[in-house]
Amino acid sequence: MAAFSPRKRVVFTCEACGGVLIKRTSYLSHQHLRHDTYVCDNPVCSASYTGHTELTGIASPSGLPNARQSELPEAPAYARNLALKVYREAQAEHQLDLLDSQPANTDH
Ligand SMILES: [Zn+2]
Repeated sequence: MAAFSPRKRVVFTCEACGGVLIKRTSYLSHQHLRHDTYVCDNPVCSASYTGHTELTGIASPSGLPNARQSELPEAPAYARNLALKVYREAQAEHQLDLLDSQPANTDH
């Protein structure tokens, strides 16, 4: 179960007392798979839990010119994000073109 902490982050809550679970330790068993231990922040309860977080897809491409190819499958949003990125780059170039072609001040 997830809830909002005072810091407005989505967090897990303790199933025993409803307290916020604090992430204590993490380790990677794979580049895309992280294991985590969570401890209830209620000192009287202090139940702890384990879980994992996994990257399952690439949602938008890196903007770095020589970025390594992702090993992950493309997420459903990938094609749309790629199209948006190309579109925004084209828009930015178009705006620079507009600035270049602005007429000089005509104050006469
Ligand atoms: Zn608890």
